[in-house]
Amino acid sequence: MNDVIIIGKGPAGISAALYTIRANLKTLVIGLNDSTLYKAGEIENYYGFPQPISGKQLLENGEKQALRLGAEILEEEVIGIEKEDVFVVKTVKGNYRALSVLIATGQKTADVKIKNINKFEGKGISYCTTCDGFFFRGRKVGVLGYKDFALHEARELIPITNDITIFTNGQTTEFSADSSELAGKFEFNEKPISAFEGGDYLEKVVFQDSSEYPIDGIFIAYGSASTINFALKMGILTKNRAIVVNENQETNIEGLFAAGDCTGVFKQISVAVGQGAVAGRRITEYVRDKKRNM
Ligand SMILES: Cc1cc2nc3c(=O)[nH]c(=O)nc-3n(C[C@H](O)[C@H](O)[C@H](O)COP(=O)(O)OP(=O)(O)OC[C@H]3O[C@@H](n4cnc5c(N)ncnc54)[C@H](O)[C@@H]3O)c2cc1C
Repeated sequence: MNDVIIIGKGPAGISAALYTIRANLKTLVIGLNDSTLYKAGEIENYYGFPQPISGKQLLENGEKQALRLGAEILEEEVIGIEKEDVFVVKTVKGNYRALSVLIATGQKTADVKIKNINKFEGKGISYCTTCDGFFFRGRKVGVLGYKDFALHEARELIPITNDITIFTNGQTTEFSADSSELAGKFEFNEKPISAFEGGDYLEKVVFQDSSEYPIDGIFIAYGSASTINFALKMGILTKNRAIVVNENQETNIEGLFAAGDCTGVFKQISVAVGQGAVAGRRITEYVRDKKRNM
């Protein structure tokens, strides 16, 4: 059992880990190599570097620093978080348990832009199978995505309906070996999509070749699971698609914290690192209290 699982190995996640590890908390960091910082060629506004440093170099330095102090870092995609007696973080490869969780998953810009996607949100288009799957009992549904997360969401729909199509929107599927067996269970449509159409509610998918596919509901699971997916599934309070936290980086769910770009703050390394530090300190207090009362 971990004291804390940190989801994300960007500046916020690694900064928090530095504090929890040095406070002797059993800390597991799970992240991918797709921090937004990879895109930053030269950083000139972060403290302590007389010469510009690339985002990639800064990320590598941070990870090495955490590893030197004893962090366990896994490169896996998180597809869900659940709260039972403790937190269970689900990845493509397995489930990991912890007394507390820090979400430091950044804030990716929208991965998919399709005409009318916003218009039908809540009217056939959903970002959460757990929240909205029930409304589509026995109906014709689709999942928009091409990675493991899309497969995971499609699997969540199996008890609800047997008419499930995965729309990849022209992308080639990228399923890990661990998930590829599951792929055989669903219909696939790989055509590029031009629009979602309907009246008050979603009725069909229209493809770039002008063909159409009637549909009652589409669940968006494009790319990796994102901050907003976790928030919706767990009932975490959000505002403008960012997680709402207090001054201690606590969310509305006890034991669940958030830091960095995913909280919708000024998107800068210094802010992410600062929030990570505050979260690390508060998580340490939280876990120590929890263990005293166990
Ligand atoms: C082009 C560009 C230039 C920039 N230049 C500057 C600059 O000059 N100065 C500055 O201060 N800031 C700059 N920034 C902003 C800076 O990169 C961000 O503010 C910072 O990286 C936020 O850190 P974070 O830890 O919150 O999120 P991120 O760095 O985005 O890290 C998110 C982490 O979460 C992980 N993650 C997300 N979803 C999952 C999942 N489902 N499973 C597992 N892991 C997941 C990712 O893999 C990643 O490890 C720039 C950003 C961009 C895009």
